[in-house]
Amino acid sequence: MRLSELLSKAPAKEEAQVERFLNARLAWGKHKTIEVGKVAINFKCKTCDDARTFMSGDRLSCLGVGDRVVSIDACLKCPVCEATVEAWFLVVSRDELDGQAPTVRLERYVDNRRGMARRVGVSAGAGDFDDLLERAQLAYEEQLGAGSMVYLRKIFEAITKQVADIAGIPTTGNNGARKPFRSLLQEVDERHHIIPLAFSSEGYKLFSELSEIVHGDSSEEMALRKYHPCRSLVIGIIQNVASDQDMQWAIDALGWNINGLNVPSGGAMVQ
Ligand SMILES: [Zn+2]
Repeated sequence: MRLSELLSKAPAKEEAQVERFLNARLAWGKHKTIEVGKVAINFKCKTCDDARTFMSGDRLSCLGVGDRVVSIDACLKCPVCEATVEAWFLVVSRDELDGQAPTVRLERYVDNRRGMARRVGVSAGAGDFDDLLERAQLAYEEQLGAGSMVYLRKIFEAITKQVADIAGIPTTGNNGARKPFRSLLQEVDERHHIIPLAFSSEGYKLFSELSEIVHGDSSEEMALRKYHPCRSLVIGIIQNVASDQDMQWAIDALGWNINGLNVPSGGAMVQ
């Protein structure tokens, strides 16, 4: 494949053998313009209010960083409204970078969307919660384990409280104090089955883990390992609530704005 194809998979950090893109070693601090095909990354364009494939030009700017490391800059453009997003890639090679067919890996990816575009594939199309889901994902990509979990937990608690309010389940106990979140969750789940089936036995366990991670009782490594299952749980809950007929009127009232929600059949797990 050409290097542009690998870069187009960002933010996925893949490794692949690519066609030669440097015909000589690029020394530290030296620049070279490379022609490796167009980089194409999907974003939700804010101006177009739709998913678009933002494209680079034919030439990319490549900077030598180390013997096996180059930094690549690209400016990507919405093909319809011409909104731009800058993207930066750090590419590391297993063997000689200027070899015939080097095996390279995308080590780091950063994009500067400046409010022009949003990531796609990050959100659940779930209105207000999308922003928090995107923040969780960005924190995860920066390897900020506890940070990513804070956003997931925020969504989890907000939904549970909103559903409790709709269903008339008191969020305070007889003494007027707030109920512990875990027991509120259990009550809400018994009445409205908000925890996806795939998680029904794991839902509370995952929540406990989420709480432990957020409260700092867990390592960063553990938080990063738990990110994907916790995220699937949270998205599954949003989807379950959105597809619950009894909740329909209330969702409108809450202004969740979830028209574009990707509800898979069965409302189960989403990666
Ligand atoms: Zn656009």
